[in-house]
Amino acid sequence: MESWDYEIFWKESVNQIRNSISKEEFTMWFNNISYSSSSENTIVLSVPSNFFMDQIKQRYISLITETMEELSGNRIAVTFTVKKNDTEKKEKSSREKKGQQANVIEKQIPEKHPDLREDYSFENFVIGENNSFAANAALAISNNPGKAYNPFLIYGGVGLGKTHLLQAIGHAIYDKSEAKKKVVFVTAENFTNEFVNSLQKNKPHVFKNKYRSVDLLLIDDIHFFQNKEGLQEELFHTFNALYGSKKQMVFTCDRPVSELRNITDRMKSRFEMGLNVELNPPNFETRFAILKNKVESLGIKISDDILELIAQNITSNVRDIESALIKLVAYAELVNRKITKEIAQQQLIDVFTTSRQSNVSIDIIQKKVAEYFNLSHIDLRGRKRTKAVAFPRQVAMYITRELTEYSTTEIGSDFGGRDHTTVMHAIQKIEGSLKSDPTMEPVINNIVRLIKEQSSKG
Ligand code: ADP
Ligand code: MG
Repeated sequence: MESWDYEIFWKESVNQIRNSISKEEFTMWFNNISYSSSSENTIVLSVPSNFFMDQIKQRYISLITETMEELSGNRIAVTFTVKKNDTEKKEKSSREKKGQQANVIEKQIPEKHPDLREDYSFENFVIGENNSFAANAALAISNNPGKAYNPFLIYGGVGLGKTHLLQAIGHAIYDKSEAKKKVVFVTAENFTNEFVNSLQKNKPHVFKNKYRSVDLLLIDDIHFFQNKEGLQEELFHTFNALYGSKKQMVFTCDRPVSELRNITDRMKSRFEMGLNVELNPPNFETRFAILKNKVESLGIKISDDILELIAQNITSNVRDIESALIKLVAYAELVNRKITKEIAQQQLIDVFTTSRQSNVSIDIIQKKVAEYFNLSHIDLRGRKRTKAVAFPRQVAMYITRELTEYSTTEIGSDFGGRDHTTVMHAIQKIEGSLKSDPTMEPVINNIVRLIKEQSSKG
């Protein structure tokens, strides 16, 4: 009899994964996974708790499976076992009561759409004033695909729920349809890669057939299509085919369509044809409600004052809020301690300060840029057009767009009441220099560092 041993593939996969995710993520998740055993086409990994198991599955299962497949040439199923801590006399958490026992090999539920994250559903989406328009439009579309608003486009800054809502529409339509509808979710990046591969393999029709025959097309992060002419041409035809046959399309983008660069006008006008809705950062009540909801769905107990602490300190976006919570829970599970307010404060100090850094004010940016170029703050934000001021001002505008969520219109008004086209021009100019002039990047990086230092002081 053969004995199966995939440990070597696991070890090598870990080495590769180490280079593809951030150090912090790696330490938090992969340092807590160890090899347990192998059987035919299956590897069992051991993790410290059900919480870890759930999180790792959600975040990394496809990365792990794909890396292992690449290395071994085999599709190896990855399953988990929870290694019980001997000294631990912890009462069973409600998660375990929900039936996720240790050592149970989790089976794939066939009904679920393979490309959609299970937890990105409408049920798990908390509605607040920042997102109610987008969420309600998304619901309307799910009830009436291809009819209400086509295409539907959700835009807004990072971590505000664009991908979540996009996939929620996918779930709703997929789950509702009896004869399963052809629901395709793809990131703009993968869409592009697939297209390029199909050309390289001389099989463009495979790509065309796939995308022109879907019932629902969800494309995430379409700003990625900027500067990609050939791709836009293809997308244009896909769009027209689907639109003509009344198939729903939903897109997300990190900015309003009008601010996309190097996207053809005809493509822009198609993106703007249906309904475009913005997602804004949540206010305190919504942040708190999101945390409450998350804690409940994870089946963990954390007191409200700790959730309040997180909701007060992290204002930037939902992703940061969630990662603070997850960090806290992971810590508590590992050291097997109850989370107190003191522990929360201690554990989250880094998160709180970096999150504050992302809320840099325009005022700090203007002061730091002026200081760096030895100009007066007043001149920088004023209307003088001399060369000595013009360039630093462009730098400041560029950095503002990079570090804050302000729109070009808002930035313009904070720089001497300028028009948003002036701001866009400034940003393009700096982007151009970043490409052509190698001394530019260190300058920008230095200024950004000064700004972040200043912002984290208070
Ligand atoms: P984006 O695509 O805009 O960068 P995501 O959709 O990836 O943001 O959201 C980041 C995280 O925040 C996800 O885990 C998502 O589930 C969560 N999230 C965002 N908005 C909400 C919300 N209103 N209710 C619950 N979770 C949310
Ligand atoms: Mg996203």
